[in-house]
Amino acid sequence: MSSASRKLLFGTAGVPNSSSAPLTLAGIQCVSQLGLDCLEIEFVKGLKMGSDTARKIKKQANAHNIGLSVHAPYYVNLSAAERGKRLASQERILNSARMAEICGATSAVFHAGYYGNIGAKKTFDIIIEGVKEVVSILKKERNPVVLRPETMGKKSQFGSLEEILFLCREVDGLQPCIDFSHIHAREGKANSYAEFYRILKKIEKKLGETALKNLHIHISGVEYSAKGELKHLNLQDSDFRYDEWIQALKDYGVGGMVICESPNLEQDASMLKKLYES
Ligand SMILES: [Zn+2]
Repeated sequence: MSSASRKLLFGTAGVPNSSSAPLTLAGIQCVSQLGLDCLEIEFVKGLKMGSDTARKIKKQANAHNIGLSVHAPYYVNLSAAERGKRLASQERILNSARMAEICGATSAVFHAGYYGNIGAKKTFDIIIEGVKEVVSILKKERNPVVLRPETMGKKSQFGSLEEILFLCREVDGLQPCIDFSHIHAREGKANSYAEFYRILKKIEKKLGETALKNLHIHISGVEYSAKGELKHLNLQDSDFRYDEWIQALKDYGVGGMVICESPNLEQDASMLKKLYES
């Protein structure tokens, strides 16, 4: 394996479809057998995992040399009008990061919020306050997990590339989760080598070279309308130019994790990994 082929890890969003059981422990083994490198644990429908399971997951991942990240629940809206909902959102992110640490996961991805009817600027101001509090609590707890707000696919959601990069620049320790499919669906463009390269350049310019050496990436095919993302597709059923995308990641020397969210999960993850190493 050349050195270039070792920079990016490829894996699945949750347990692979071909796993012997729909459990993270079995999923890690499956990812390893498939020759993949990492897995994102999905707390998206709520965090139901206990510490005992998390400790077993850590052991399993270490034994198979599989990198882990977690995805916080979808029910997060740091810019909700009701204070109770904002606090509950912070709590869900905090608990995801705490469980991530026990699992040995290095990153916790979250969807920051919605614009509602208060506009982008006010939404940003509310979200940044909420995120700062969460980060400061985790710092006090000496939690090493990197929090990562995700670029979002619907125009009603906070999380354009610019917003996420600005948020990460303003909050110490925060790093982005770059979902290229979301950026493509949201903008209706961002689907060529030159555009992918420009996105990477923008990340480097705003957050420095180190952000690109350990980037967290989501990818899948995507169906979209003028309002943005509609649903995930397998890459070959979509218009996403993944061959140009991989080439841009390679040429830029990006490192980190690529988490595949296509419905066929491990098939697209393996296809991308092969393409990357070819
Ligand atoms: Zn997500």
